[in-house]
This record gives sequence, C-alpha cells and structure tokens, in this order.
Amino acid sequence: MDAPVSPVTRATPDATFAATLFRTMGVDGVYGRSGLYENVVERLAALITEYRAPEAEILRLPPVMSRSDLERSGYLKSFPNLLGCVCALSGSDAEIMAAAQRHETGGDWTASLLPADLVLTPAACYPIYPMVATRGPVPAGGLLFDVACDCFRREPSRQLDRLQSFRMREYVRIGTADQIVGFRTRWIETGQAIAARLGLACQIAPANDPFFGREGRIKAISQVQQALKFELLVPIYGEDKPTACMSFNYHREHFGLTWDIHDTTGAPIHTGCAAFGMDRLAVAMFATHGLDTADWPADVRAALRL
Ligand code: ATP
Ligand code: ZN
Ligand code: MG
Repeated sequence: MDAPVSPVTRATPDATFAATLFRTMGVDGVYGRSGLYENVVERLAALITEYRAPEAEILRLPPVMSRSDLERSGYLKSFPNLLGCVCALSGSDAEIMAAAQRHETGGDWTASLLPADLVLTPAACYPIYPMVATRGPVPAGGLLFDVACDCFRREPSRQLDRLQSFRMREYVRIGTADQIVGFRTRWIETGQAIAARLGLACQIAPANDPFFGREGRIKAISQVQQALKFELLVPIYGEDKPTACMSFNYHREHFGLTWDIHDTTGAPIHTGCAAFGMDRLAVAMFATHGLDTADWPADVRAALRL
C-alpha cells in the first residue's frame, strides 16, 4: 500500500528561515520583507485575483481608518486588546516644541500625546460597510468588493505566522442571507482549490474570533454554534497546531444593522467575507516548499508563474 502523502514541512521557521525572508526592525512581529519573500506575496496576490468575479469593485485601502467608524462597528466590544490607535502631539507650536524637547532631556514626550481621529485598520473589510451605507439601498443582486489593506493587531509574537503588521486581502459580499451563505460555501471550496494548486496541505475547521474577556467566551461559543466562521488551516509550526491562512466569515446582519444598510425591500442586509492572510500564505509556502523557489514543484511554480 502506498504511504499516505503527508505534508512535509521542509523549512522550519527558525532563525535562518527568518533571516532569509525578513529583516528585523527591532520589534516582534514587525519586519522588513526581502525581495524573495515579496515576490511570492505578489504572485499569491495575482493568483487570488484570477478568482475575482468581474463585477467586483476593487478598493485598495490605506493602513488607517476613521476611529469613529471602527468604534461604531463594535470593535471595542470584541477586540479592545488588539486595537492600535494613532496618537499625535497637538496644541500650539510652543506646546508641541515643549513635549518634543522633553525627549531630548530624558523626559517622557509621550505624556503629551492625544488620540487622533484615526486607528490602524485591524481587518480589510471594516471600512467597506460605512462606505456602502452612503450609497442608498443595496441592489437585488447584492454587492461584491475586492479589498486589500495593511492591517495592524497588537499581538506581538516571535512566531512568523503572527505579526503585528500584516497584509490582508478580502472578497466581501453584501446582500441577502442566501447570497452570503452561497458566496461563503463557494469560497470554502475555492480556498481549498487554491491551497491545492499551491501544494499546501490544509484542512477546513469551524472557528471563533478571539473575543476579549469573559463575555467574549460566550460570543465565541455562539459563533461556533451558528457556524459563522471557518478557517483554512495549514501546518507551519507543526501539524498539531496549524495556522489559519484564510477565513470565511458570515456576519449575519451585524453590519447591516450597525450601519443602517438595507436592500430594496427595506430589510437589513447581510454580509460575509473571504479573507486571505497574505503574509501567512507566503510563510506557509516557504515552510512547505523550502527557501529556494527554484526548487518548488513545477506545478506550484506554474500556478504562481514563478
Ligand atoms: P487567528 O485565530 O490565527 O488569530 P484570526 O481569526 O484573528 O486568526 P481573521 O480575523 O479571520 O484571523 O483574519 C483573516 C486572516 O488574516 C487570517 O485567516 C490570517 O490569515 C490573517 N491574520 C490574522 N491575524 C494575523 C496576524 N497576527 N499575523 C498574520 N496574519 C494574520
Ligand atoms: Zn472581513
Ligand atoms: Mg487573531
């Protein structure tokens, strides 16, 4: 009998792995990216684009978004521990000068910082819902977006699959419950097809978001019970703790109600998204196939046009 094909992790993410792909910037989870690594990120992005439906509206978003929009989205109720907020010195020139000079004399200039009207975007789809809310009723066919954003989450780690600053690509679907459920079912299939073309071992698993605090545990249980989130898991640091490289999310009418977005019948719209962790996918590629892309299997190289 043939031995089962087991996913071989050819390059454990050790110090050599990190030094080949990244350049340290002095903070865990924040890295400069080498040309070798970035080329693979770009090829992965192009592969994901191959699966974009023609009607999708493309939006490339900056790494910051409106603080009040994120507050209204409910982020502080669920993930206050992950949020990064932009702060700046403000006031008169003299006040700003005095704060900056405290640093020169060994003092604490940050005591004068005030929160700005910006936060660091924690997921690519958050800015979409307030945008859609300004456009009037959602047409019967619903809406589809292709979004990408540099995201921030305050979860420092030495592991290369958990960064503080990372790239997220998403297809976001807005419409009826049926439209969203259909979209998500198709994307769970397509995500696996993409992983197969990439030569990545993967499994789909029900998941929950890491909701904060005691109440968060209840939200997490309910999310799993309602099957609202699935992840595509790939072994990077061992098969016993595989890493979520894609997630497929159904938010029900949460954003419809929050932003007062209705369909043409006046019913609150439902939303869902298929999210790709671009940096996790790239790290998974190097962990699976090794650090030399010339050695990668021919069909994988072909899929990525390497
Ligand atoms: P995890 O459970 O691993 O923390 P998550 O549930 O928080 O993941 P999502 O909110 O679904 O992740 O984000 C979509 C995708 O973005 C994830 O599937 C993953 O690929 C990527 N991602 C999330 N957090 C990080 C991170 N800290 N570093 C790198 N990629 C990340
Ligand atoms: Zn999303
Ligand atoms: Mg997380």
